[in-house]
Amino acid sequence: MTAQPHALDRADIAIIGAGAAGLAAGIFAGEARGSRPLRIVLLDGARTVGAKILVSGGGRCNVTHDRVSPRDFQSLHGSPHVIRNILAAFPAEATRDWFASLGVALKREETGKLFPVTDKARTVLEALLHRCRELDVAILPEHRVTEVVPSDVGGFRVVHEQGSLAAGRVIMATGGKSLPRTGSDGYGWEIVRRLGHTATATYPALVPFVLDKTMFHAELSGLSQLVELTTVVADKRVDRRSGSLLWTHVGVSGPVVMDASRFWTATHAEGKPVEVRCNFLPGVGVEEAERQVIEQVTARPRLTLGKMLAQQIPERLAERLCRVCGIEPGMPAGQLDRASRRRLVRTLTGLVLPILRDRGWNEAEGTAGGVPLDEIDFRTMESRVRPGLYLIGEMLDCDGRIGGFNFQWAWATGYLGGRASAAGA
Ligand SMILES: Cc1cc2nc3c(=O)[nH]c(=O)nc-3n(C[C@H](O)[C@H](O)[C@H](O)COP(=O)(O)OP(=O)(O)OC[C@H]3O[C@@H](n4cnc5c(N)ncnc54)[C@H](O)[C@@H]3O)c2cc1C
Repeated sequence: MTAQPHALDRADIAIIGAGAAGLAAGIFAGEARGSRPLRIVLLDGARTVGAKILVSGGGRCNVTHDRVSPRDFQSLHGSPHVIRNILAAFPAEATRDWFASLGVALKREETGKLFPVTDKARTVLEALLHRCRELDVAILPEHRVTEVVPSDVGGFRVVHEQGSLAAGRVIMATGGKSLPRTGSDGYGWEIVRRLGHTATATYPALVPFVLDKTMFHAELSGLSQLVELTTVVADKRVDRRSGSLLWTHVGVSGPVVMDASRFWTATHAEGKPVEVRCNFLPGVGVEEAERQVIEQVTARPRLTLGKMLAQQIPERLAERLCRVCGIEPGMPAGQLDRASRRRLVRTLTGLVLPILRDRGWNEAEGTAGGVPLDEIDFRTMESRVRPGLYLIGEMLDCDGRIGGFNFQWAWATGYLGGRASAAGA
């Protein structure tokens, strides 16, 4: 996309960041202005906009989920009440209808995730860009904004790499820090800090982990399986969830790991002791697991331990877990002594993952932390600190789990901010 030939010195609404949230805000502002001649401009630092939409969902863009609840989101300091209200204003059905109106039919997969029927993220991006063009919402790539300054005559001066423009209202949609090569490097927080806002410390969310080399992950690289992960901070459980874990050449990934990661990254960065325990028998506790093992050993004492465990977990993993416990997997199950059985059961139901670090912003799909939600009015996304300024999308202190929830947050906040800014302009 090339810069459009609009006069660049003035806008009624300037939207900083043309990612998912900014594009949604531009469209909803454009629709809400009716016949009023409001000039709406999106400025983005990237040369081509929408890079993150294109890589999302493995190139298919998981647009939303058919069931969206506040429980699918986390916030470092925000109130679930604010998140609930924002989601209620633009629920998943609204997203589905909105995309249908843009000519993008969505299909639901078994997991509840919604994708475009074309299975192409480009369909989503092109529909958003097309609607912006229809509504005469200008998109200015290569316009990285360095500063937003309140103007003496009201409104703001938006300073960007090619000059500046005067704007009556400004919507900040600069995203978080995940995948910085798409243009989201966190500088937006610096801009809003200078306008009087705060921003919490931020941590990679939806990010895989690197495990200690002594672990067997590399030998299982490519294998995925259902597990239950429990994150424990100072002996207190802060999160528990089940799902698919993928062993990788450097550690672990997969939806359940990505979803749990924000609890580890935020706590670890604060210097607190944090542990992620992996139960390879989801939903089964130590006592029940021990009862099951005794039952299996009694039923087939000559079966090797590896083969016995392979009735419930992948055999390659069963062998590694036996070795972690100092037990030979080829040993007949009937020879398992009580102490070894206990060790095995504890490992099966609560192996502590030896996490060295997360894989960083380049591998993260989300951001934990951001501008606190109590600094905005959740009905309009307008700043409580600086009237005429709106904040939307990933730059806020709210992050969703894998499944289309982060885009839903972007559409919902874009809807509220876009409409409200046009109403007030
Ligand atoms: C690999 C990957 C896959 C993902 N897959 C999914 C998925 O399938 N489903 C889902 O729900 N979520 C997914 N997400 C998360 C989702 O993409 C984000 O939550 C969402 O894009 C956030 O939207 P946003 O508009 O707030 O920020 P962004 O999409 O990050 O957009 C911010 C924009 O602001 C611009 N910008 C930043 N600073 C400036 C500045 N100073 N001046 C001008 N412009 C600036 C950037 O160039 C960028 O275009 C994925 C994320 C990643 C990294």
